[in-house]
Amino acid sequence: MNEFRPPKSLPNGCELPNMIIDTYKHKGLRRQLIDSLKTKGITDKNVLDALMALPRHIFFTKDFEHYSYEDKAFPIAGGQTISQPFTVAMQTQLLECKPLDKVLEIGTGSGYQCSVLCEMGLNVYSSEVVEVLHIKAAKYMELLGYSPQLHLSTGSLGWAEMAPFDKIIVTCGAEEVPNDLMAQLKVGGIMVIPVGKGDDKTMMKIVRQTETKFASSNHGIFRFVPLV
Ligand code: SAH
Repeated sequence: MNEFRPPKSLPNGCELPNMIIDTYKHKGLRRQLIDSLKTKGITDKNVLDALMALPRHIFFTKDFEHYSYEDKAFPIAGGQTISQPFTVAMQTQLLECKPLDKVLEIGTGSGYQCSVLCEMGLNVYSSEVVEVLHIKAAKYMELLGYSPQLHLSTGSLGWAEMAPFDKIIVTCGAEEVPNDLMAQLKVGGIMVIPVGKGDDKTMMKIVRQTETKFASSNHGIFRFVPLV
């Protein structure tokens, strides 16, 4: 099912580190970032611990490494972005993850959110439309020692063959909640998805209460690259 095919070479600017160097300075900056997330309403210890454990700076080129522990989104290859740490933390907290939950992420992107979910001990499936990002993320997962199932999606939404999922996290902005994704959620499952017509998206948490009944709540305004 994993459609990862290693390329002969990655495009310029897409080179990866071949080892993880995580210094006391990186850890100190990460601690400050975690403290700032606590003041912004992130209380789930498992989420905070995962963000503290993960060397976010490895997703940045050396020139931009100093931005990696600021609470900001940042451009990556393929015209996409690595999500802001607060957004990653908030979406993950809203998922109310339990050990071994089967979680689907839409929008692997850099692989940062995916690695947070893996670090939390979840059973992770992640789908991405941009091939270079899918390939790069697979290499990052190997470097970090995680083994999520990664999927290069070619226009389809979600991962129907692997459904149903306990949790679904959408990391790109949708105009409305896609029916395909609702159908891939288990009864009792939770989906967290940014939804709205314009640039500003409302973070929605959707709980599937029965086969046919869904409850939703809103959790603030965020900016995202569009779901295609
Ligand atoms: N989770 C990422 C953020 C990625 S930005 C991180 O932690 O860095 C959103 C990503 O969603 C982009 O990489 C974009 O290419 C991807 N995307 C957009 N529409 C998609 C779709 N229908 N299926 C899968 N991925 C999609």
